[in-house]
Amino acid sequence: MIEVHDLSKRYGDKTAVDHLTFAVQPGRVTGFLGPNGAGKSTTMRLILGLDRPNSGSATIGGVAYQSLREPLRKVGALLEARAVHTGRSAYNHLLCLAQSQGLPRGRVSEVLSLVGLTEVARKRAGGFSLGMGQRLGIAAALLGDPQVLILDEPVNGLDPEGVLWIRNLMKSLAASGKTVFVSSHLMSEMAQTADHLIVIGRGRLIADESVEAVIATSSGQSVLVRTPQPAQLAKELERGSNADPAEDAVPVSVTTADDGALIVRGMSAAEIGEKASAARVVLHELTPQRASLEEAFMELTRESVEYHTGPDAAAPPTGLEPEPSPESEAAE
Ligand code: ADP
Repeated sequence: MIEVHDLSKRYGDKTAVDHLTFAVQPGRVTGFLGPNGAGKSTTMRLILGLDRPNSGSATIGGVAYQSLREPLRKVGALLEARAVHTGRSAYNHLLCLAQSQGLPRGRVSEVLSLVGLTEVARKRAGGFSLGMGQRLGIAAALLGDPQVLILDEPVNGLDPEGVLWIRNLMKSLAASGKTVFVSSHLMSEMAQTADHLIVIGRGRLIADESVEAVIATSSGQSVLVRTPQPAQLAKELERGSNADPAEDAVPVSVTTADDGALIVRGMSAAEIGEKASAARVVLHELTPQRASLEEAFMELTRESVEYHTGPDAAAPPTGLEPEPSPESEAAE
């Protein structure tokens, strides 16, 4: 199990990881999701002891990475920025790693076969394609048959066959009881791979739930409504239900899509139909919408962006303002 407690990391005045707390359980694939720049790689580097946190802690099986004995046997990692390969062959690259950690030589051939690189094992790794390089990185991560795997954007730049291969590999590793923690900025990819999601935005935890729960808590409840009297219906829906909202009830909201349809949240299609009928509003369409995971993700992370661009994020003027980052420029 990986446990992260109140973890924070700042680079200058940039907070990359902001008081994160979560646990990654064995026996399932846990997706670590967030838009680019959300702090995923930084969190993984902190877990792996490659960077020092400003506060908080990260442990693997209850122990900080730096204190692990024979770390390759405990944790396998593939970070996005792979070490640049030299003139060494894939086989020799893995052999060096194995020898440095006291792992049996025979394990090198095993992992090469596992990742499908046996035929090119003697070729110079420097000449490998991105996909082959990723496979080699995964072979290195698997070398010590570790209980915990940490993979940063492993499908980046892979062809569909490579994506499928990594997906199935992660699932089978989790099924064998290992802890698999994998980051991605692609919700669609995680939807097909992960059992559980940890979603972050701007360094903060947004969700720590099953894939199903993430979908359900988002706009899964919305209903698309077409009517020639949109303004009247919107008024009826918002007036009727927000008067006495039940505890925990999603407040009713009505927004207008580009094509003029109403998107209603917090109310079922049946309730909308009843209210439209009572108000003598004609309906042309009444369709419950199931949010896709991608929509759920956009919604979750949009909220986090809004939160952080609010007054909370406004720094007092110092007269020594830093150059705006490309991200903050893009947001403006
Ligand atoms: P992600 O992996 O989710 O794309 P990162 O962890 O790479 O996000 O980055 C989070 C934020 O921290 C970004 O704004 C990034 O620019 C910043 N950052 C990451 N590493 C460094 C560093 N070594 N120095 C300065 N800023 C950094």
